Amino acid sequence: MTTHNVTLIRGDGIGPELAAVTKDVLEATGVSFEWEVMEAGIEVFEAEGDPLPPAVLESLRRTKVGIKAPITTPVGKGFRSVNVRLRKELDLYACVRPCRTFAGIDSYHSTMNVVIIRENTEDLYAGIEFEHDQEDTRALTELLGEFRPKQRLGPGTGISIKPISIAGSRRVVQYAFDFARKHDRKKVTAVHKANIMKFSDGLFLEVAQQVASENADIEFEDRIVDNMCMQIVQKPNDYDVLVLPNLYGDIMSDLCAGLVGGLGVAPGGNIGTDHAVFEAVHGSAPKYAGKNVANPTAMILSGVLMLKHLGEMDAATRLRDAVAHVLEQGEHVTYDLRPGRSHDGASSTTDMAAAIIDALNR
Ligand code: NAD
Repeated sequence: MTTHNVTLIRGDGIGPELAAVTKDVLEATGVSFEWEVMEAGIEVFEAEGDPLPPAVLESLRRTKVGIKAPITTPVGKGFRSVNVRLRKELDLYACVRPCRTFAGIDSYHSTMNVVIIRENTEDLYAGIEFEHDQEDTRALTELLGEFRPKQRLGPGTGISIKPISIAGSRRVVQYAFDFARKHDRKKVTAVHKANIMKFSDGLFLEVAQQVASENADIEFEDRIVDNMCMQIVQKPNDYDVLVLPNLYGDIMSDLCAGLVGGLGVAPGGNIGTDHAVFEAVHGSAPKYAGKNVANPTAMILSGVLMLKHLGEMDAATRLRDAVAHVLEQGEHVTYDLRPGRSHDGASSTTDMAAAIIDALNR
C-alpha cells in the first residue's frame, strides 16, 4: 500500500478543530498517510512575526500535496492574506470549487452541479496597491489625472491595480477545458466584465475564445459577470464548468455555496503544475472558534478532492458516499444544516465527523 506524505495546515479560528476531525476521517478510509502537521495563521503571527513561517512552505514543497484549514486575514492593517500568499508562492493557479446539491440539505434548487474554476494568482489579488496620499500614489494619480482629468483622481485616492495576462489566462482556461474533458462535462463558460474593463477582462475573454477554438470538442460560451450572477440563481442547470478571473471567482464561489446549502458544505482545491493544496471555501469563522460547532463537511469534502488528486479513487468515492449518507439522514449534522440554522438538537463538529466515520464502516 502506498503511503502518501501530506502537509496538514491547522490554521486558526475554527481551523484546528476541523483539521483534527478531517485527519481522523481521512485515516478512517484506510488510505495510509504520513502527515507533516504545520502551524500557520494569526497565533503564529503573534508569536513569530510571520503568519506563514518558511517551514510550512518547505513542507509543501517537499510533500507537494497539502490540506489546509482556514486562516484569518485581518481587515485593513495586520498581515497580507496567508491564503493568497500560499497560492502565489506555489503558483497554485487554478482554484477548483465544485458546487453540488446533496439530498437532505435544504437548498434553493433540488439539483445543481456546477464547478467553478477561479484564476488564483492575478487580478486585484496581485497585491499591487497604493495607499492614498503616499508618494507613489500621488505620482500615479497625477499621471492618471493627466489622461483622465474628469475622473477627479488626486489626493485622497487609493489605487489597486488589476493585472491580467495572456499566459495567466491561457493556463487557467486550458485547465478548465482539461477538467471538463476529464470529468465528462460538456460546457465551459468564461465569466468577465469585458464590456467595461476592455484591457484586462477583455484580454481574459479574448484568450478564452482562442483556447476554446483549440478545444472544440467541449462547448464554450461567455457571460458578463452581473448577468452570470442572476443566471446562476435562476437557472443553475444551464451551467457546467465556469472559469473566472480571481475576484469574480471568489464572489461567485460563495454565491454558489449559498445556493447549495451554505459555506459549510463547499469544498475546494488550489492546483498548480507541481503542487496542490486543498481547502474549504469558507473562512476561519472566529465567532465559533473552540466551540466544536462548525460544520466539518467542507473540509472533509476537500479531503475527497485530495484523495482523487492522490489517485485514491475508491477511497474518495466511499468517503463522498459516507458524507452524502450522513447529510441525507440529517440526524448527525451541525447547526447550519438544521431547520432555521438552530443550535437546538444540532450535532457538534466531532459528532458529525464520528457519524461520517460510522457511515464509512457501514
Ligand atoms: P467565514 O467563511 O469565516 O464565515 C462566514 C459565515 O459562515 C459566518 O457566519 C460563519 O460563522 C459561517 N461559517 C463559515 N464556515 C462555517 C462552518 N464550517 N460551519 C458553520 N458555519 C460556518 O467568512 P468571514 O467571516 O468573511 O471570514 C472570517 C475570516 O476568515 C476572515 O479573516 C477571512 O479573511 C478568512 N477567510 C479565510 C479563508 C481561507 O482560509 N481560505 C477563506 C475565506 C475567508
